[in-house]
Amino acid sequence: MKITLLGTGSPIPDPNRAGPSSLVASENTTVLVDAGRACVQRLVGAGVFPAFLHAVVLTHLHSDHICDLNDVVTTHWVMSGPGAALPIYGPPGTARMVNAMLDMLREDVGYRMAHHDDLNHEPNVPVTEVQPGDTFAVGTLQFLVGATDHRPVDPSVGFRISDGTHSVVMAGDGVPATSLDELLVGADAYVQTVVRDDLVQAIPNARLQDILDYHSSVTQAAQTAARAGVAHLVLTHYVPAPFPGTELEWASGAREHFSGNIVAGPDLTSLEL
Ligand SMILES: [Zn+2]
Ligand SMILES: [Zn+2]
Repeated sequence: MKITLLGTGSPIPDPNRAGPSSLVASENTTVLVDAGRACVQRLVGAGVFPAFLHAVVLTHLHSDHICDLNDVVTTHWVMSGPGAALPIYGPPGTARMVNAMLDMLREDVGYRMAHHDDLNHEPNVPVTEVQPGDTFAVGTLQFLVGATDHRPVDPSVGFRISDGTHSVVMAGDGVPATSLDELLVGADAYVQTVVRDDLVQAIPNARLQDILDYHSSVTQAAQTAARAGVAHLVLTHYVPAPFPGTELEWASGAREHFSGNIVAGPDLTSLEL
């Protein structure tokens, strides 16, 4: 199983970092986790064309995690044969969001179908809304859904993804929670959005301070990883964004609390289990 951080940025635009998005791939199965800014560009950078995706899973409906879902859907559609489906799994609200997005794309879908004689099917994106405790499979990957605490964003979920040998928890955004601890039981790797609370507090912007109460700090992520006993802590969605190449230095505070392998880096950083 390979986990690739496609985008390590946040809602704050950054010339070096795409928005939140990751790729989890095992033999024969490739799944996109969240679809932030420029995720399709990074997907191709990871060597995966959108048509090769088997599913998209969404942790929550914050704009930074879904704003390029339309690009994923369109490029998957125009590069695939008749009937090719791109299933989308996400928390309640996902179906409404996807239907509205398809409505936004309606004119474009019409133009392309009228122009290409061999393109006679609309995008096929079946949505499954998931709840904590649900399980489902995509190809060779098994998924368990768990609640995360990203309030007032509710619902928000994380996914434990297993290939039968190894497993990773894609926790998305949020603060430490018992439900996240439970999802992490037995996992090998834990991927968490992190903020540097000390650096954010030094920025005199009231709206920026609001992000602190619903994201894990580097310290909190490390403490969660230590409690879970995972071998690998993968940090992403950095706020404020460190200069590329300095991520491990930026996250050095995690080392005080977690003795396992810490992964942090620029877009396209990956971990193989
Ligand atoms: Zn969020
Ligand atoms: Zn986010």
